[in-house]
Amino acid sequence: MRRNRQDGQSAPTAWAYSPAPEPRAIVKLQPRYGLFINGAFVEPHSGRYFTTLNPATEEVLAEVAYAEAEDVDRAVRAARHAYEHWSKLPGKERAKYLFRIARLLQERAREFAVLESLDNGKPIRETRDVDIPLTIAHFFYYAGWADKLEYAFQGRTPRPLGVAGQIIPWNFPLLMAAWKIAPALATGNTVVLKPAETTPLTALLLAEVLQQAELPPGVVNIITGDGQTGAWLVQHPDVDKIAFTGSTEVGKLIQKAVAGTRKRLTLELGGKAAHVIFEDAAIDQAVEGIVNGIYFNQGHVCCAGSRLLVQESIADLVIRKLKRRIQLLRIGDPLDKNTDVGAINSLPQLQKIERLVQVGMQEGAEIYQPDCPLPERGYWYRPTILTNVSMAHTVAREEIFGPVLSVLTFRTPDEAVQIANNIRYGLSAGVWTNKGSRYLEFAARVKAGVVWCNTYNKFDPTSPFGGYKESGFGREGGVHGLLPYVAF
Ligand code: NAP
Ligand code: MG
Repeated sequence: MRRNRQDGQSAPTAWAYSPAPEPRAIVKLQPRYGLFINGAFVEPHSGRYFTTLNPATEEVLAEVAYAEAEDVDRAVRAARHAYEHWSKLPGKERAKYLFRIARLLQERAREFAVLESLDNGKPIRETRDVDIPLTIAHFFYYAGWADKLEYAFQGRTPRPLGVAGQIIPWNFPLLMAAWKIAPALATGNTVVLKPAETTPLTALLLAEVLQQAELPPGVVNIITGDGQTGAWLVQHPDVDKIAFTGSTEVGKLIQKAVAGTRKRLTLELGGKAAHVIFEDAAIDQAVEGIVNGIYFNQGHVCCAGSRLLVQESIADLVIRKLKRRIQLLRIGDPLDKNTDVGAINSLPQLQKIERLVQVGMQEGAEIYQPDCPLPERGYWYRPTILTNVSMAHTVAREEIFGPVLSVLTFRTPDEAVQIANNIRYGLSAGVWTNKGSRYLEFAARVKAGVVWCNTYNKFDPTSPFGGYKESGFGREGGVHGLLPYVAF
C-alpha cells in the first residue's frame, strides 16, 4: 500500500495503479438498431428512435427503435406463430439451440462484457467475471433441463404456457435476459422481451447471437422502448404469461393490470436486505462481505446488503474498518480493469440517490464518503456509509439502489431477526457468525428468499432466487425456475 509520507503521516491513500483499459474496439456499434421481430431487425411502426448513453461519459452510443402498440402486437403475433412449431419440438432439439446460444456467448464473451460496461456503466471486472459467465451458465443449465422435464416434475406431464412477455431492468441487462429467456425456451414457450430503456444494447447483440444460432424466427422477439412499451406488452390479450423484474411500484401496476385475466404472473421486485454481523464473526472477512454486498454494481442490486445490522459490542470496530476499506475502492472508468465502482446508470437514478441521502441527513444520519476524485463527465456517486440510523429513518426503509449503506446496531440475536424482518421487503439477507447454530436459526427465522451465510451476493443457476412480501413472488433459477413456465 502506498502511504502519503509528505506530511510525515501514514494515512492510507488509494492504491496508485496505472491505467489498464480494456480495448473497446471489439464492439462494433451500429448507429441505429431496429426491433428484433420474427428473426429479423425491422423498422418500428412509428419510425421513432431514442438514444442510449454511456453513463460514464454521457456519450451517445446508438439510436434504438421505440416499439409502440402496433410493434408489440407484431412481436406477439410472431411469437404465437413460432409457438406452434417450437412447443412441439422434442426437448432434446430445443436443448441443442440453448447449448448453441451458450457456446456462441462464450465465444463472444469479451464483446458482450465490453458492451455491457459501455451501456450500463458497470466495471469491466464485473461484466467479465460475473454478468457474462453467469449468463452463459444459465443457458447451459436450462439447456440441460429441456429434455428432462419429466424428471423435474415427477409423475406429472408439464406443458408450456404459450407466449411469455418478459420485462427486465437495467442493472444486469444481459443476465436478466438470460434468467428470463433460458427457462422459457427450455420448457417450450416463445418470448417477447422488453429490455430497459437505458440498457438495450446487449439484448440486441444477443438477438444477433440468436440469428447465428439459427433459432427459428419468432421464438424470441426483442422490442426496445420505455415503460409504456412494457405496459402495452402486459396489456396484450394474446400473452399467456408475464415475467417482470423491476421496481415494486411498477410490479404493483402490472399485478393490477393482469388481475382478472388468464395471464400467469411472476414478479421479482425490490429489496432492502439486512446484512447481519454478529460479534463472533471473522471481522475482516465480514468487512469484505459488507463491501461486496453494497458496493458491487454501484449498489444497483435488488438483493444488495443495504442495511448493515452490526452487533453493538463490535459496531465501532466494524465501522472503523469499513471506513478505512472504502477509502481504497477505485472509482472511475468502467472499462479500466482496476475499477471497483463504476458509473451510476442514469441521471434520474443519480438524482434519486442524492435525494434519499439528503433525506437521511435531514433525519439525523451521519454521512461518510471517501475523498476520492470523480470524473468530470458522467454520473457518479461516492461509496457512502450512513451511521446514526434507526429503523424509523427513510434510508433504513426505502430502497436507495445505489452505493449507500445504512448502519444500524442490535444487541441480541432476537433483536437482529426483529429488525431484519421489520420491513416491507423480503428478497435477501446475509449473516456473519462463527456459530453454525446461530446462522441456521437466523436463516430459518428471517423472511427472505435468499440468505447468505459468511458470504454475500453469490449466484448460481442451480439455486432459486426470488422474494417474499413486497419483493415479489415466483422463483428464477434452479428447478424452481422452470415452474412459472409450465402448466400440468
Ligand atoms: P422499473 O422502473 O420498474 O423498470 C423495470 C422494467 O419495467 C423496465 O424495462 C421498464 O422500462 C419497465 N416498465 C416501467 N414502467 C412499466 C409499466 N408501467 N409497465 C410495464 N413495464 C414497465 O425498475 P428499474 O428502476 O428499471 O429497476 C430497478 C428496480 O428493479 C429496483 O427496485 C430493483 O430492486 C428491482 N430489481 C429486482 C430484481 C429481482 O430479481 N428481484 C432484479 C433487478 C432489479 P424502462 O426502463 O424502459 O422504463
Ligand atoms: Mg445506456
